[in-house]
Amino acid sequence: MIDNTIISLSEKSIQNNISFLRSKLGDQVKISAVVKANAYGHGIEQIVPVFQKYGIEHYSVFYYSEAIRVYNSLPKPASIMVMGWLNEKDIKDAIEKNIEFFVFNIERLESAVKFATELGLKAKIHLEIETGMNRSGLNGPELNAAIAIIKENIEHLELTGFCTHLAGAESVSNHFRIQNQLQKYQEMATELEANDLKPKYKHVANSAASIVYPETRMDMVRVGIMLYGFWSSTEVFVQYINSQDDMVDPLKRILGWQSQVMAVKEIKRGEFIGYGISYLAQSNIKTALVPVGYSFGYSRSLSNKGRVIIRGHQCSVIGVVNMNMIIIDVTHLKTVEVGDKVVLIGKQGKSEIKVSAFSEISDELNYEILAHLSESITRKIIK
Ligand SMILES: *Cc1c(COP(=O)(O)O)cnc(C)c1O
Repeated sequence: MIDNTIISLSEKSIQNNISFLRSKLGDQVKISAVVKANAYGHGIEQIVPVFQKYGIEHYSVFYYSEAIRVYNSLPKPASIMVMGWLNEKDIKDAIEKNIEFFVFNIERLESAVKFATELGLKAKIHLEIETGMNRSGLNGPELNAAIAIIKENIEHLELTGFCTHLAGAESVSNHFRIQNQLQKYQEMATELEANDLKPKYKHVANSAASIVYPETRMDMVRVGIMLYGFWSSTEVFVQYINSQDDMVDPLKRILGWQSQVMAVKEIKRGEFIGYGISYLAQSNIKTALVPVGYSFGYSRSLSNKGRVIIRGHQCSVIGVVNMNMIIIDVTHLKTVEVGDKVVLIGKQGKSEIKVSAFSEISDELNYEILAHLSESITRKIIK
């Protein structure tokens, strides 16, 4: 762990976002907190106990290794669902640990039956169906084959979910495609129910769908980005805010990122700064060195463009982002000292650096910037 650079996580913001989603979605809809990609960079081990404290009882991940991290971080047992990859031996372990998983092909269904039978337990499966995203999921004939297998092995399977993923609910340009997906989903759900199979949760919605298409909420929503205080897209935010009387963003960002000044230097006019010739001092300037670089997820595309806050003032990154360092122009500050706080993401005084400002400069999605935040940065919950 690197001790002078920390990611702070606001417990108040977590509480705020969960209670907003609860009030928006109502009590009948289960919230599955999506904590893949290290809880969108926030840190699984830190985030999961706080989510649970504020009532989240269902967690979604992509990899089985993430499911195990959630499992080990939960103060009390809760449901965990693997939406993506787990290998053969993990399937057995998952069944023993009561971990739920997506079934999107017949091979996985057969493995679930095999291991559950061996263990004398029930595998908790979510049938994922193909409705038009063309990524993963059972098509019509495969669903029929799956139904036959499930009926035959019902004592070793629990049909926990029946689900699909929508191809871009955050953009109105996908409206038509999504309507088609929902129709296909309903047809396949009817097929399932005609066979007397009733899933515990029907679920199709991510954050954007849960706001833009209320009919997609069904029994459960898989919410990621909004729990962390971000809207899936500007379109979703605008649609939400236009339906409200006040124009206040109900979501609060959880994450802040800070470091410290490591060294201060005076540079003479005409000198190049850092690697190569990407920055030439046009006058005598003062620089501050900050021990954060692209190895921590501070993108190289922020070279000569990024901004940070020192002593309440916005300052520019000059030269290229190094593996472990950035150089900041602090000429306009009266005083700067080694050890001064440097805000990379978050607020200080009246200044703020948002993840969205980051993403505008670097052309990365919020999701991408968050997911790149290195796991080696220390995370701390702030009460
Ligand atoms: C990541 C993911 C989600 C959550 O998406 P958000 O936009 O972050 O709410 C939901 N469902 C699936 C299948 C996912 O992969």
